[in-house]
This record gives sequence, C-alpha cells and structure tokens, in this order.
Amino acid sequence: VAKKKQERASGPYAIGMDLGGTKILAAVISSEGRIVAEAKLKTKPDEGPEAVIGRMEQAARNAVQKAEIEWKDVLGMGVGAPGPVDPESGIVYHPPNLAGWNEVSLGPRLAKELGVPVFLENDVNLGTLGEHALGAGQGTRDMVGVFVGTGVGGGLILDGELRSGYRYAAAEVGHMIILADGPVCGCGKRGCLESVASRTAIDRDIQLGIAAGRESLITELTGGRLNRLTSGVLAKAWHQGDPLVTEILTKAQWYLGLLTASIVNLIDPEMVIFGGGLVEALSEELLAPIRVTARQYFIQQAGADQVRIVAARLGDYAGVLGGAVLARRRSGEKPIVAKE
Ligand SMILES: [Zn+2]
Repeated sequence: VAKKKQERASGPYAIGMDLGGTKILAAVISSEGRIVAEAKLKTKPDEGPEAVIGRMEQAARNAVQKAEIEWKDVLGMGVGAPGPVDPESGIVYHPPNLAGWNEVSLGPRLAKELGVPVFLENDVNLGTLGEHALGAGQGTRDMVGVFVGTGVGGGLILDGELRSGYRYAAAEVGHMIILADGPVCGCGKRGCLESVASRTAIDRDIQLGIAAGRESLITELTGGRLNRLTSGVLAKAWHQGDPLVTEILTKAQWYLGLLTASIVNLIDPEMVIFGGGLVEALSEELLAPIRVTARQYFIQQAGADQVRIVAARLGDYAGVLGGAVLARRRSGEKPIVAKE
C-alpha cells in the first residue's frame, strides 16, 4: 500500500466494495483509478444479514482509515453483491450463497450508516465495468464479460455503458441453454452453460470419473480429498497431461467456445473478456481453443479474427474498481441515499 501511495493518487475518492460468499473487500480508489488502500474482512454469511452488513461498514471504515483520507473526500461507494439486485432501490434479493438474505435493503442501509451515496450492482456486472474502464476492455465500445467460477456470470457493456437490463438481469450467460436436456443446473433447469462448463460442473465430472475408476493425478494432488480441488490443482494436472482432466477441460472449452459464438452472434461486440480462477490459472492455454471454436460458429465470418477474446486483467480487484467507477459516474445522478 505504501508503494501505491507514492504514485499519483488524488481525490475526490470513491470506495469500491465487493461482497462475496467468503470475504468482503473494500478499497479506496483515487480519481486516477488507483487503489490507495484496501481492507478485507470475512463475510461469515451464517451469522445473518445484520452481522454481514456491520462487517461491510467496518471494511469501508478500515479502508478509509488506512488511506488516511477524510470521509468528506469520499464521493460515494459502489457495492457489488451476488445474485439479482435492484440498483434503483438498493435492494439485494436472494443471493444463492448468502443464506437468510431476502430482499435486504442494503444500499440505503450502508448509505445511512456511512453518510455517503451508495450505488448497488450485481457483482459480475461491476467486475465487467471494472475491466472495461480500467482493465482489458479499455477503449472498447461494446464488450461482454464472462466470469467462470462456481457458477458462470456475465456482464454487458454497450456504447461504453454498463447495461443491467430491464429487470436488472441482463447478461446471465451462465443460464443460456447450451445443451437442451443436459445436466441439472444450480437454477433447477437443465442444460444451462453453468451445468456443463462451470467449476462446479468440472469438479462434478472429475469426481464422477474417479468414482467410475478412472486414473487421475487429481487423486494424488488433492491427497484424495476432492473437495480440495482448486483451479491451481486443475492447472497442474492439465500441465502434466492428465487424461481425465484434459478430457473434461477440453469439453468445458468446447462449450465456452459455443457460448462465446452465441454471444457474438447476438451482440457482435469488439471483445469478450474471460475472468475467474480457472482463466487466471491457465490463461492463454484455456482461451486459445475457446477462440477457435467460437470463430467457427460466428455467422459473420468477415473480420472474425478482429473480435478479441481475451483474459481479464484485474483479478480479484475488478469488482472494487468497477464499484469505484460506478460511484464516480453515478454520483452526479440520483444516488441511493437513506430515506428517513
Ligand atoms: Zn441455470
């Protein structure tokens, strides 16, 4: 942090915050888009919404304190929350990984406690906005973000602006049907992209393979504890040519390629950005085959190689940087403020 502070970092500042299932990350971000200070706290979602909201406030306060700035120099805070949210009212509906959250009025609560305008968005939308404004997507007009994790999330930028959709549910690329009558998805339907190409799907297929007697380095690399399967372990097995992992990742790449083609055939963006742990672990090795498949299925073949399919650059910071960008852009508009 000390090193970062030596770089040009001037106010007014925005706070970006990312509410995850395991951790809360808050960062103070300068007008140049630099992270001045950050604070992390465990989410502990089992303690319920009230406790989690308290820790979110604490994380913001810790970040402001570490940045050695005053709250009056903070123009607003952009918060990314999982699942569907209503950016107008600041309500979080039913995030899948936060038990007990049921239409929580998060935006107004944080605004009242911290005394700054709070802008709420879906976490993946914010990550996409961060990548567009400050990461791999800088300078593009139309761009789509695809984040492969436990699920698969997406975000949509059109004409340089984040598009949340009519009911704030746009770019749910994880639930595009890629294999009708395929495996059951976390959403309860069959054949969503998430059911064939998320980390959950990949882990399931590896466990099924091993249970069926297939030999795999995964058994040794995880010490037989398959719940310890990380993206790093997958990458290691892939690099050592493990046949089971190669087969399963190749299949996931195929589906992600088809997904990319469908996205391009609908939007025709300049860029599709892939993020998430698996992309960070394998980068170009994961992306190259996705690119080949996608381009085969573009309906418009002219200029197919000009559509860039690239890795995200901001890693875990995409969400907080996107939050700061959102707060900065929207602070002149109707901010979410506490109603007494
Ligand atoms: Zn689904």
